[in-house]
Amino acid sequence: EPLLANKTAVITGGASGIGREIAHTYATQGASVVVADLQPEPREGGEPIHEIIDDETDSTATFVECDVTERGDLEAAVEAATDLDGLDIMVNNAGIVGPVGPIQDVDPADFQQLLAVNVEGVFTGCQVATETMLEREAGGSIINMSSVAGLVGYPNITPYSLAKGGIRMLTYGLAGEVGPHGIRVNSIHPGVIETEMTTTDFPIIGGEDEDAALEAIPLRRFGQPEDVANVATFLASDWAAHVTAESIVVDGGEFRT
Ligand code: NAD
Repeated sequence: EPLLANKTAVITGGASGIGREIAHTYATQGASVVVADLQPEPREGGEPIHEIIDDETDSTATFVECDVTERGDLEAAVEAATDLDGLDIMVNNAGIVGPVGPIQDVDPADFQQLLAVNVEGVFTGCQVATETMLEREAGGSIINMSSVAGLVGYPNITPYSLAKGGIRMLTYGLAGEVGPHGIRVNSIHPGVIETEMTTTDFPIIGGEDEDAALEAIPLRRFGQPEDVANVATFLASDWAAHVTAESIVVDGGEFRT
């Protein structure tokens, strides 16, 4: 039996990059998938992932237009999962880099927007998912997308680091709260993964520091969305049945070496 048979998942930011690969991997492992994003098309171009899943796998996929800064949108995404078969897995993956540069140059409005998406969006996603999972009394797995930048300080993306560190602590606190109800809460901390975020928004890949960035990674390659999706599949599955309040780093060894 596939790892996620009979499970239903919501993935925020599921149209592009890492979230897109999570949606696809979940579907190939038997899950029904709700892709919740600002738009169905991926930022990197191509066909909407929910259509690919419907065409090429045995799983069901739907798209829900969702801005994670809007509680009602998150509620609609979770409701779509309830309509499919009930919410088992919530992946709070949507995120932005936000303002890049020295702290003096950070525009307060950009800072607020970063907090709205990366902190409040994840918090509300946890709140809405928890409410539904508690009512259903069938446990669940909540996965919050943090970053290596939530474990170590990154100069010139201090708002992002602040948000990603906060996501980690939200994860631990909530895991303690809902563990007695069989709901697991974990965070994933990717290093440099090749997506629009690292090729366009904050171009480590293709930028002038690319060689140095690669040299810092013991496995000597940048991560691919699939590397993160595989870990997200493990955490969502019953193979991780006794794993909660955990942070898993997916960075080719960079952070600890
Ligand atoms: P991406 O930009 O390729 O994809 C992000 C997706 O989130 C897009 O589809 C976008 O439309 C969506 N999104 C943005 N704001 C949203 C909002 N308000 N509501 C709903 N959806 C929204 O980025 P990615 O690299 O796939 O990043 C996914 C997550 O992984 C983010 O939380 C990011 O911080 C985290 N992360 C990425 C890396 C990396 O190297 N790429 C490293 C560490 C952590």
